[in-house]
Amino acid sequence: MRCWIVALFVLLIARPALALEPILDRLVVLTFDDSVKSHFTVVRPILLDYEFGATFFITEGFDFKTNKDEYMTWEQIAQLHQDGFEIGNHTRDHQGISEQNDSEVEEQLEAINQQCEAHGIPRTTSFAYPGNQFHPDGFAELSRLGITFARRGGAPEFEYKEGKGFAYEPGKDHPLLLPSAGDARPNWTMADFLRAVSQAKDGRIAILQFHGVPDNEHPWVHTPEDQFRAFMKYLSLNDYKVIALRDLSRYVDPTKTPESHETIIEQRKQSLKE
Ligand SMILES: [Zn+2]
Repeated sequence: MRCWIVALFVLLIARPALALEPILDRLVVLTFDDSVKSHFTVVRPILLDYEFGATFFITEGFDFKTNKDEYMTWEQIAQLHQDGFEIGNHTRDHQGISEQNDSEVEEQLEAINQQCEAHGIPRTTSFAYPGNQFHPDGFAELSRLGITFARRGGAPEFEYKEGKGFAYEPGKDHPLLLPSAGDARPNWTMADFLRAVSQAKDGRIAILQFHGVPDNEHPWVHTPEDQFRAFMKYLSLNDYKVIALRDLSRYVDPTKTPESHETIIEQRKQSLKE
């Protein structure tokens, strides 16, 4: 009898953690920055139609508090959560991480978390670096504040103005420094979009960064509605799986970090020179 109890005990404690799902080709993460009104009025119905997941990175920076023609209300942000989308953290004042100390980072993230709590939205676990400015010194503090995944832009492999980037390579990219495979620009054609999403293969995941559709306040990262509809239609017709950033935890273990976050970045920079 006793050995049965021991065997049962061993079976229970030795049970492996929930298995991760395989990373199939055509896995795409959609992200939308800066709390732009058109995220609610234009992007939301399109994504709901296609049943796509997405993360909306919220900041109260720019004219968020006063210009409600161009920025969402917290009630609209709460509706996005109720629709099943993820609400991510983009700092209260849209401040870059590089010039801050830990207490400022905490103040910036907690201000968004407090608004989430007040509006029935879960505490944020995904983060996007404002202005895509990052600093590795911030990793420990982001992690302490409960951030699991953080997204940057296409830099430093590509210059900011190009809007180009590499797909996320699990195991090689640090979970708190995930690259954007594409950062949509007003003049993006279908070819630019394809250059980003076609990287979603061989274990790589394409993370896309959008701003407003349209974006009247940040015209340098505006996306025309017709173009956005064409991009989303392409993903649907070609059987892409479209998820929020938090959903990456179904496919990767965020506690596994590379020895150096710089190695993969340097390899890519080298590959661009060849
Ligand atoms: Zn931003």
